[in-house]
Amino acid sequence: MYPASFEYFAPTTLDEALGLLQEHGEDAKVLAGGQSLIPLMKLRFAAPRVIVDINGLSELAQLEQEDGGLRIGALVRHKACERSELLQGRYGTLGDAAPMISDPIVRNLGSVGGSLAHADPQGDWGSVMLAMRAEITAQGPSGTRTIPIDEFFQGPFTTVLEPTEIITEVRIADSRTRAGGSYLKLERKVGDFATVGVAVHVAFANGSVDKAGIALTGVGPINLRAEAAEQALEGRALDDQAIGEAARLAAEAAQPRTDLRGTEAYKRNVVRVFTERGLRKTAEVAR
Ligand SMILES: Cc1cc2nc3c(=O)[nH]c(=O)nc-3n(C[C@H](O)[C@H](O)[C@H](O)COP(=O)(O)OP(=O)(O)OC[C@H]3O[C@@H](n4cnc5c(N)ncnc54)[C@H](O)[C@@H]3O)c2cc1C
Repeated sequence: MYPASFEYFAPTTLDEALGLLQEHGEDAKVLAGGQSLIPLMKLRFAAPRVIVDINGLSELAQLEQEDGGLRIGALVRHKACERSELLQGRYGTLGDAAPMISDPIVRNLGSVGGSLAHADPQGDWGSVMLAMRAEITAQGPSGTRTIPIDEFFQGPFTTVLEPTEIITEVRIADSRTRAGGSYLKLERKVGDFATVGVAVHVAFANGSVDKAGIALTGVGPINLRAEAAEQALEGRALDDQAIGEAARLAAEAAQPRTDLRGTEAYKRNVVRVFTERGLRKTAEVAR
């Protein structure tokens, strides 16, 4: 099906883009990689009267390490994350997830900001960002605000973003201690959305877990943080006992539903197994 007709704008500055959003309010939609928005428009699940294409805003496409951590511009493509040498070691959760997102065509176009704004509970970046305690920077008519990732997702395909706001970047603070992580994903076939995904990020201090992040994809109405599992690890050595306990608690935190991809019990068990594997891998990296 063809999308409903719309007016198309391609601003060259962020101010211009924000002005267009303010002028057209709820009638307007930002277009980044178009990998989620365009299918929705073609199916007529979305019919924005105005499209504000932000692909000309090259300042939003920077991925860099800064003093206080990592800065991922909203327009950084999944493919750029896959290729980035920065996304290893302490930022390994990001580097693990990038090549697991869909196929090369989607990864060439789809953006980190677009993925987060779309807020698909089966989206992979949401869990990665939760595990890494990312902060989202959004700009709107009244200026810039920083949104902790824990406050960002409100429900399936719903975030705290206003229609007049644009995500400009995602920031991940550097723990400044030894850190590592992983992302594991079960998919029916290569390129599919997650049946289950588990993101793990751990920062160590004096041989023990200082901060742990564990977040789950595809097993709830939004990407979920497994808080009890995280807390169970903090202050302890990442040994078999701690890993087993955290994996059990992560499985308890999941809210899976039986569907064509698997039963509720099966998905919960995958969460347990993946949490265990992810933490073991992280323990090895840390060693
Ligand atoms: C076949 C297929 C398979 C896929 N598989 C996966 C997968 O396995 N894992 C996964 O995580 N994702 C998957 N995706 C989704 C993909 O990652 C998309 O790229 C992503 O969800 C949306 O990013 P985008 O840049 O294409 O955003 P768009 O489609 O352009 O926009 C999506 C939404 O975000 C809004 N938006 C975009 N950028 C901003 C911004 N900077 N500020 C505010 N709002 C913004 C738009 O207005 C729109 O509402 C798949 C998509 C397809 C088509």
